[in-house]
Amino acid sequence: MSATERYLANNADYASRFAGPLAMEPSQHVAVVACMDARLNVYGALGLREGEASVIRNAGGVITEDVIRSLAVSQQLLKTHEIILIHHTDCRMLAFPGYTLKEPIRSDWGMLPPWPEESFHDVATDVQRSISRIQASPYIPHRDSVRGFVLDIATGQLEEVTSHSRR
Ligand code: ZN
Repeated sequence: MSATERYLANNADYASRFAGPLAMEPSQHVAVVACMDARLNVYGALGLREGEASVIRNAGGVITEDVIRSLAVSQQLLKTHEIILIHHTDCRMLAFPGYTLKEPIRSDWGMLPPWPEESFHDVATDVQRSISRIQASPYIPHRDSVRGFVLDIATGQLEEVTSHSRR
């Protein structure tokens, strides 16, 4: 049995206890942007429940054009106005010497992916860069509550990244 089939079996149990439907607009008016890392449980880490926040995830939790699109949808169509960014320690997108994603793809398949790799050398610095990208975007109406955090994957604790902190 594949993992997908096991998870589909779990869905029957989930559906039997399901309390929906919920309102489409997030009740806490929050959007969370987080790394896709399997160890980062956004709902557990924040005590977030279904229906409370838009949750947008990608490799690294970086602010790409598509994340800007999702934040624009969240704010303009779903009425959110606070943004929480969550990066984490031990992220796979932390670059180290010799690391590259695109060159092995190019050498194997002969095509260089057009998207930016978006790896980073310092997780807190990348949180700051993410905050700056949001604050510089004319497509996101509410930019006054944008806070960024690093989740310690060993302890589950969130540490806020301020404009002066370095890690
Ligand atoms: Zn990560």
